[in-house]
Amino acid sequence: MSAAVQVFAVVLRHGPISRVEVTARTGLSPAAVTKAVRPLVDAGYLTERPDERAPSRLGRPAMPVQVVADRAFFVGVKLTADEVIAVRTDLCGGTRDVVHRPLTSTAVADVIEVVADVVGALATGYEVACLGVSLAGDVLRDTGMVRFSPFLNWRNVPLADLVSAATGLPTLIENDVRALTVAEHWFGAGVGVSSFALVTAGTGIGCGLVVNDVLLPAGELGHVAIDVDGPECYCGGRGCVEALAADRVVLAGCSTVVGRALTMPEAIELGRSGDPAVHAVFERAGRALGLALAAVANLVGPERIVLTGEAVGGYDLYAEQIRQALAAQAFGAAAACELVVRPLPFDEWARGAAVVGIQDLITRSGAARGSAGAVTLPAR
Ligand SMILES: [Zn+2]
Repeated sequence: MSAAVQVFAVVLRHGPISRVEVTARTGLSPAAVTKAVRPLVDAGYLTERPDERAPSRLGRPAMPVQVVADRAFFVGVKLTADEVIAVRTDLCGGTRDVVHRPLTSTAVADVIEVVADVVGALATGYEVACLGVSLAGDVLRDTGMVRFSPFLNWRNVPLADLVSAATGLPTLIENDVRALTVAEHWFGAGVGVSSFALVTAGTGIGCGLVVNDVLLPAGELGHVAIDVDGPECYCGGRGCVEALAADRVVLAGCSTVVGRALTMPEAIELGRSGDPAVHAVFERAGRALGLALAAVANLVGPERIVLTGEAVGGYDLYAEQIRQALAAQAFGAAAACELVVRPLPFDEWARGAAVVGIQDLITRSGAARGSAGAVTLPAR
């Protein structure tokens, strides 16, 4: 990573920030920081402004550095089975506009058409540096291929090339949980820690892992087995976290003990009103989730785990069981891991796709397909 990229990434995540602090956080020399900042300021990516509140000891005002948010824009798209959610963000990851559009067909050509339409609505009149698209499934950022998407029933779709051709924008694709993990690491609850995990609980159980500031291409937490005698899972395994704690499992359990088909809001309401049998179903799912979090803590040792997803809506019903199971099962230093519970609506997931584009611009990983109009950082 060049000094310019290192400096830019630190200012983006922590700015406004003094050069002294940039030096401390990057490990570069003060001279190297000054040399890296100058061309970034000249190119309009960074700005220096006097901070009257923090005069330096020499009597001159300190000159903290910050990113110029409007220097570049990004579009992020989150695909679900029945909806396209898209946002336009600035260079600091701030959401400027949001569009939701229903999907009436999951045929590849139909989805591309809706995506191009939504992106056109958000990008017109703005210099968009990169388009990020996220979806659940086996998604390869480097090749732009969707190997498998269970919700859309897609196999081996060259999505990045197709979307880039339809929109004319450099396009990146990423697994939706990993994209959200990147956004939380750079701009959310993961700022300031180098090892970080994000766990989503809801329809499925997903996990994004950042170790030493690098996003891992792994995290199938939903199919980690935590009960050798547990129920069969649709994946063919037994005792998987998903088979014990996914929304549909919790809902089926609640419906069984009540004797009629419930909706999730009804089940949560019954649990809150003190129905002991319904509460016990949530508690069991909570223990399963706690064991899953402990598996993450024991294997990877993140400083912080963010728990999010649809299931967080009923979190109060099993918060105690999650925390107890995590504390009981996490070994040694892993037990020091901090658990943060955060509801993140789909707009935030779309923002995650945009942040993947921001990260790509800054680190210049070069994974974006189609380069016309791409903004590049100064090479020095
Ligand atoms: Zn499974």
